[in-house]
Amino acid sequence: MPGELKTELKSKSRAEGKLVVLKLGGSVVTRKEKRMTPNLEAIKMLAQEVAQADVEYLIIVHGGGSFGHPLAEQYRIKEGFKERSQIEGFSKTHQAMLELNKLVVDALIQHNIAAFSVIPSSCIVTKAGRIESLDNCQIDMLLNMGLVPVLFGDAVLDEDQGFAILSGDQLVAVLARSFKASRIILGVDVDGLYTADPKAHSIAQPITHITLADLKSRISAIEQTRVTDVTGGMLGKILELMPAIGAGIPTMIVNAGKRGNLYKALKEQEVPGTLITKE
Ligand code: ADP
Repeated sequence: MPGELKTELKSKSRAEGKLVVLKLGGSVVTRKEKRMTPNLEAIKMLAQEVAQADVEYLIIVHGGGSFGHPLAEQYRIKEGFKERSQIEGFSKTHQAMLELNKLVVDALIQHNIAAFSVIPSSCIVTKAGRIESLDNCQIDMLLNMGLVPVLFGDAVLDEDQGFAILSGDQLVAVLARSFKASRIILGVDVDGLYTADPKAHSIAQPITHITLADLKSRISAIEQTRVTDVTGGMLGKILELMPAIGAGIPTMIVNAGKRGNLYKALKEQEVPGTLITKE
């Protein structure tokens, strides 16, 4: 269940209190409606903005968009192992994510960021879809060396159900809590959280600041994304992030597809979007 945290680090991280955990949504780094199609312009722009912002301790997690999600859905990876025909889908889903990860990490390196790919399925085994431990991912060592770990939503092995989909959003929340991050930035393709899905309802109003208590009471109005997404769109995102926000980590949701927004969010400058705080 989201909420419980079993992933305390063995020792205090140097990044504690200074770390920014940045999620680059699949809706930003890929063209969501076109299978296996990256949004190379957006990836390049985001790499530029990350480089300009020059954050001391940064972890990046990217989503799957049109790389991971259609395959994961086709082979019902999220449901766990039920039949042999899913095995090739598990392999293909993971491979698709590696391809996207390479594009993101390449772009960051081209902009002189010491990005370092951390493959979730190589260091995380879930239990009924939930992360049990981050111990084997060496993220702390990477941060201490001045590197920027880059993770992604992945098809992972699961103790109970054989395999599972580990969403980038779950990863973000667990990383942020484990490392006691100072803040979370979620880059998506809309201008933050709205009173309803802005793509489906023209009357949807943007929310600039909301507390966790207010958010909980409004959650029923927050509708799920229309596009195929096995990890549940904005609602799933918010539900995953709630425990991290509850632990006192403010979360900013911005439209990372619009030039300058990510830079401003990383620099804590004013930017259109939604700030979610504990109180
Ligand atoms: P990503 O894959 O980038 O992590 P998703 O596509 O899963 O993000 O979720 C973002 C999408 O959620 C937006 O494009 C938007 O259409 C949809 N959405 C649904 N409800 C809302 C809401 N209340 N506010 C903002 N976006 C919403």
